[in-house]
Amino acid sequence: MVRLRFAPSPTGYLHVGGLRTALFCWFYVRQQGGKFIFRLEDTDQKRLVEGAENDLIRMLEWAGIDLNEGPGIGGESGPYRQSERIEIYSRHVQKLLDDENAYHCFCSAERLEKLKAGQRAKGETTRYDGFCRRLSKAEVSRRLGEGDQHVVRMKVPEIPETLVLDDLIRGSVSIETSQTEDQVLVKSDGFPTYHLAVVVDDHLMNITHVVRGEEWLSSFPKHLLLYRFLGWDPPRFAHLPLILNPDKSKLSKRQGDVAVEDFRTQGYLPEALVNFVSLLGWSPAQDQELFSLSELLEEFSFGRVNKSGAVFDREKLNWMNQQYIQNLNLEDFHQRLLPFLAETTYAGEDEILLRKAIKILQPRLVTLSEIGDRLSLFFDNNPVATDPEVKNLLRKDTSKNVLSIFIKQLESIDKLTEENFASVVENIQQETMIKGKDLWLPLRYAITLEAQGPDLKLMVDFFGKEKCLHLARQAQEL
Ligand code: GLU
Repeated sequence: MVRLRFAPSPTGYLHVGGLRTALFCWFYVRQQGGKFIFRLEDTDQKRLVEGAENDLIRMLEWAGIDLNEGPGIGGESGPYRQSERIEIYSRHVQKLLDDENAYHCFCSAERLEKLKAGQRAKGETTRYDGFCRRLSKAEVSRRLGEGDQHVVRMKVPEIPETLVLDDLIRGSVSIETSQTEDQVLVKSDGFPTYHLAVVVDDHLMNITHVVRGEEWLSSFPKHLLLYRFLGWDPPRFAHLPLILNPDKSKLSKRQGDVAVEDFRTQGYLPEALVNFVSLLGWSPAQDQELFSLSELLEEFSFGRVNKSGAVFDREKLNWMNQQYIQNLNLEDFHQRLLPFLAETTYAGEDEILLRKAIKILQPRLVTLSEIGDRLSLFFDNNPVATDPEVKNLLRKDTSKNVLSIFIKQLESIDKLTEENFASVVENIQQETMIKGKDLWLPLRYAITLEAQGPDLKLMVDFFGKEKCLHLARQAQEL
């Protein structure tokens, strides 16, 4: 049975790159009727962030990804937190040591630093020089007995060879073992490094496919050697392309948001973010951009994941979010807005008016968190134009002319509605002989103070005759 895992480190938040990895795994697992496992890679005790585990799981849920096994869920391959598996790693390290595929290393941080500095000065790649490989057994036991600080390193075979990986995305990738150093497997605090833990866990958890970021591609020889040392068959691998900033640098917090949580609080819909993130490096067979979760699940294949980096285009995400917002039914839209509305001063406004305003705004909203700014137009009492451009336009003779006829028209009708607004405007045009921009812009500026905005007939309908009269008079007096 197909078994894939998502194995984040609890160092803070779910990164959009992590979300993409989780999604691709999940699509594949669900296509194959397999199991999706969550494993917490928390062996780097210095970088732990409290609450991160829950946040990671919560964000996956928000995105619509469900898990079959993991901490808090259970399953037959637990425990699912690496910090609870220390004893398991120790057993396997002992085997590596017994078989002389690993060794104790007592080199001090100073020695390693000096070694690296020397290599750097010669323009060489920095790597451990295998100094402690040469220690005698007697010396090793003596120093262990004395409690000397040490790590355990893997012993890369001295005879170089070419290791080949058949990657699901990149095809055949070869790397020489001569480029691989004697990787630390157990740190001086007794915790395993990623390299040891990932191999042991993926094997013991019966993982069939390892899907991870391209940054791990260079580690695969270490992992393949460990599989061989431990007498295990490696799983299949898929290394996903990097996600890049528009300037082609690696996507980083410095250049904007990378945490899924940030997108959620800014009012991106999970469907939009999932759709957008799934297209980072994966291209569907057909020319289509909007995909529901179930469509993505159906269409996804590793064969259509690109090798080259994918640019994170915020404009495209915004466009997608707007599309998804527009397509929500009104009730759903309203429900999703509620937490954002609660943050504004408009939450207590008259329910009917609020719903009416929300309906008018739906086609225009890019993110849900914009709602507060957008509602000010509807509920702030008779705002006066301060923008010089608006003022200048309203002071033009043609504008004054338009507004005075508008006022006259309003005074002659009982009600101003979406339906009769068109005839009001037509009457103004006939009386003033003004049309186009010179006709519309003063009306729009008088009512909304903005050149762009919701459909004017919907706005006048929302405000009604009295408020429009007031706004028009106010504008005329500028
Ligand atoms: N803990 C690693 C990370 O967060 C997981 C890499 C892997 O999937 O093997 O990048």
